[in-house]
Amino acid sequence: MNNTVQEKADLELAKISDYSDEQPENALIQIIPEFQYKSRYYFFLKTIAALCSCLPPIFKKSPAKNKEENILLPPRSILSIGTKTLVLDLDETLIHSSLKPAIYYDFMINVDNQFKTHKVFINIRPGVNEFLEKVSSLFEVIVFTASISKYAEPLLNKIDPNGYIKGRLFRDSCSIINGNYVKDLSKLGRNLKDVIIIDNSPMSYSLQPYNGIPIISWFDDKEDRELEKLVPILEELTKVEDIRCTLKDLRANKLKISSENIANLNNQSFQQQIYIQKLSFDKKGLYNSSKRETLFEFDDNEQNLQINL
Ligand SMILES: [Mg+2]
Repeated sequence: MNNTVQEKADLELAKISDYSDEQPENALIQIIPEFQYKSRYYFFLKTIAALCSCLPPIFKKSPAKNKEENILLPPRSILSIGTKTLVLDLDETLIHSSLKPAIYYDFMINVDNQFKTHKVFINIRPGVNEFLEKVSSLFEVIVFTASISKYAEPLLNKIDPNGYIKGRLFRDSCSIINGNYVKDLSKLGRNLKDVIIIDNSPMSYSLQPYNGIPIISWFDDKEDRELEKLVPILEELTKVEDIRCTLKDLRANKLKISSENIANLNNQSFQQQIYIQKLSFDKKGLYNSSKRETLFEFDDNEQNLQINL
């Protein structure tokens, strides 16, 4: 059996198992006629392999099922469809915690481990509540932390009583690469062109470096305004087509991540698109096939786009 037919069979088999009690073999033959002649041996081997744990797996699992199992987030809620996804780190990005009794702290939680209960003292980065309120109106907001849920869940309940954060991912969702906990954004179940991660540790997003915005680690500086500074940047990023292209262009041009630089890049990209459309529609210079026809034209040598406002 050639690979194409086998892959097609695996994929269809995954769907068939959800449909009915109908014999999968017969259903598959209806969908892929080539199977009428090639499938008997294939199903015999597959059934034997499933029944006998002493036999090594002969066929890899269906790619469709594997994909579903690896997705970390549930499908988007209706309210967040069409918005980009903002992934936030927790420790040293939104809060700082310590096991040492602190003179000043915002709140304390008890974390049980197998042998004793630890008191953990938490300080919240300045502006967290305002930041979460603002970004939740622009993005689907997710917290992705390398900490364990026993510690992070009660902490998130405290810092987000209004439920601005729509998803929580913990250590068990991280991938371990060279001994480090890495947040593999490709497992989120979201299109990577629409995903931004803010994390004080660039190692966390090393698998998708052009989705990341770094932030200075926070410990106790009450004058810190880094979250507030990120808001105009994030507002500008809601308008870009592909987060990765924008952040890559900024780095390639040695430009800092700022709302002005993102707006300029976005504007250049928009003008290039109009230029390409113009070349394909009208050699005289007027872009004449859309509502924009009175707004744009080219100069005499057809090199520069002029905007008529
Ligand atoms: Mg961190």
